[in-house]
Amino acid sequence: MSNLNALEVGMMFWAERDTLAEIKSMGVRCGQLCMAGEVALTAEYAAKWKADLAANDFTVVTCFAAYTGEDYADIPTVQRTVGFIPPATRAERLQRTLELSDFAAALGVMSIACHVGFVPEDQADPDYIAVRDMVRRVCDYAANHGQTFALETGQEPAHVLLEFFKDVDRANLKINFDPANLILYGSGEPLPAVRVLAEHVVTVHAKDGDWPPADNKDALGTERRLGEGSVNMPAFVQTLKEVGYQGQLFIEREAMDPVERINDMRSEVPYLKGLV
Ligand code: MG
Repeated sequence: MSNLNALEVGMMFWAERDTLAEIKSMGVRCGQLCMAGEVALTAEYAAKWKADLAANDFTVVTCFAAYTGEDYADIPTVQRTVGFIPPATRAERLQRTLELSDFAAALGVMSIACHVGFVPEDQADPDYIAVRDMVRRVCDYAANHGQTFALETGQEPAHVLLEFFKDVDRANLKINFDPANLILYGSGEPLPAVRVLAEHVVTVHAKDGDWPPADNKDALGTERRLGEGSVNMPAFVQTLKEVGYQGQLFIEREAMDPVERINDMRSEVPYLKGLV
């Protein structure tokens, strides 16, 4: 990672969905590699990625886990299906996350990350205790590889996440800060949140979006192109500079239409470079 610059623009991309050549052609030399739950994390597959990254002189900063069965349709569906919350998939998702840590280590990647889902605020809630204990196990496993384990923000307000951090009590637990998620989930204004959480932020997503409709508490907000949503991207980049953030900015676009998604990712690179 040492050859990357502070606030350098990179890309969040998916194995088996995006190609390294296409991502690199957008004008970036670093990224976060997301592995869908169906992708087999074999030693051969890690070796293939390692060779491909070396051949392209491309740096992966984070390996992200997504899990089979996750659904982001609306807030109740996210609560029911995402991350470490659903009891029925806890054991397999823990195992998958530890495998991702091994896969990342084989690539020389020093951070892993995922959405852990909606963590209850009540520290006596059985789901809270189960998720906290899973996060500790992932942290301790990742620490053996010298890795950080980053939680994606957005599904809870900043102060709730801070309390969770204190309770987990692991030095390698970090945050992947996504300003749009706080808006999409109606969890709070992202600029004050990044100031509150700054000391724990290891990576940042550049994503934009608008707030959920006021009359529907189950609805998520709407993702927008960078600069066209409610984040205020110029102010967000300025805030990252003010808090001394030294990591990279990874563009993340989740548009459903694959052509629109790639076109937006490509056009957002020069926009974000201009802000930095
Ligand atoms: Mg994100």
